[in-house]
Amino acid sequence: PKESEDNLRSPICCIMGHVDTGKTKLLDCIRGTNVQGGEAGGITQQIGATYFPAENIRERTKELKADVKLKVPGLLVIDTPGHESFTNLRSRGSGLCDIAVLVVDIMHGLEPQTIESLNLLKMRNTKFIVALNKVDRLYGWKTCHNAPIEKAMKQQSRDVKKQFETQLVQIITQFKEQGLNTELNNMDKEMRETYRIVPTSAISGEGIPDLLLVLTKLTEKTMVENLTYRNEVQCTVLEVKVIEGLGTTIDVVLGPIVTSIRALLTPHPMNELRVKGTYQNHRAIKGAQGIKITASGLEHAIAGAALYVVGPHDDLEEVKETAMGDMKSVLSRIDKSGEGVCVQASTLGSLETLLEFLKTPEVNIPVRGISIGTVHKKDVMKASVMLEKKKEFATILAFDVKVTPEAWKLADDLGVKIFMADIIYHLFDQFKGYINNLKE
Ligand code: GDP
Ligand code: MG
Repeated sequence: PKESEDNLRSPICCIMGHVDTGKTKLLDCIRGTNVQGGEAGGITQQIGATYFPAENIRERTKELKADVKLKVPGLLVIDTPGHESFTNLRSRGSGLCDIAVLVVDIMHGLEPQTIESLNLLKMRNTKFIVALNKVDRLYGWKTCHNAPIEKAMKQQSRDVKKQFETQLVQIITQFKEQGLNTELNNMDKEMRETYRIVPTSAISGEGIPDLLLVLTKLTEKTMVENLTYRNEVQCTVLEVKVIEGLGTTIDVVLGPIVTSIRALLTPHPMNELRVKGTYQNHRAIKGAQGIKITASGLEHAIAGAALYVVGPHDDLEEVKETAMGDMKSVLSRIDKSGEGVCVQASTLGSLETLLEFLKTPEVNIPVRGISIGTVHKKDVMKASVMLEKKKEFATILAFDVKVTPEAWKLADDLGVKIFMADIIYHLFDQFKGYINNLKE
């Protein structure tokens, strides 16, 4: 519909890629903040959401003189820790992510989590662009702060240009091996069949204007349909903040939480959701936005679950049932025989992904119990039930969660195995190795 084209919601963009490629740093560079420096060991622990108003994007892309009329109000950018988080960002039904940036380190090329991210993107048919980051690491690079990449490239020596070319060709080949056609971004060119590669430096800002411009252009062009406002609320719980003293484990046995919203909060524009600070209070809010909601009962909420709004004409019981539907798909994966391993993951989405994987015929590991959050002593107790029946199932597969020292000790004492990994396949490899060992 014509009139709604001027009333587009902000697209949601996910930053994905292998660890240390500079995902958080890129966002920092755009924001002009330093979240990366403040992170424990520089590793992103949670999911951050930042809203970039169109104003700021316009400002940052000015030099490109592209004269794009930004029709979207802004861009909601979501930083992700490794590959896992993307699974909990998918909302039920339609994907939460409109577009993604796949970050690749120009010096390293495609790495294991790059390929995992790539497969997730392909699977969900999400459009994305490649940020070929850390161009400043090319030997002899001359810094041109925040310059468009073409301008920055012109300043470089022949040697730097040659290094760049070599790396680029290699990386394009690696993408081809993954069945993907990629090409260096060209603003003036229609690039329907290939994925754009935008060289960037998150340290000195070269290529950032290009990245922002390509992102907004692409979303506007391909997603006018998806970006028009709908009246229904679509919302996914990204993260549940642990309140001190309550512990961190939430068992997946809950019913839906019915509550009234006390406050809708957002950080000030260009600040990140994760960073402590003051919040703006809203009476109403338009998507897409990363928001904090305060309400009673939310300590039982599960990251990755959907949020439903009960309107005056809605049947509460029906809505509750829909909300439970999400949980049922997870609960239905539990083996009826009562025999199997225990699995534990950080969010509902990652738990679902793990359960799906364990169910595939090649893997076929039965699951007896599921849980979300840190592995505690009680989880070890639960797993130890299998010791008498089937020792190999007295195992916890812990996917992207922590294990308390007490739980480790108890597991050691009882003979319960805990395997930890943040890549699903590694969990499988460890467990398989263990089973083979037992058999010998
Ligand atoms: P993430 O794990 O993908 O979020 O990566 P980070 O943003 O935490 O960055 C990992 C490391 O690479 C940090 O030490 C950054 O300072 C560094 N880094 C990130 N981007 C760049 C870049 O463009 N150039 C250089 N030289 N270093 C970068
Ligand atoms: Mg990070």
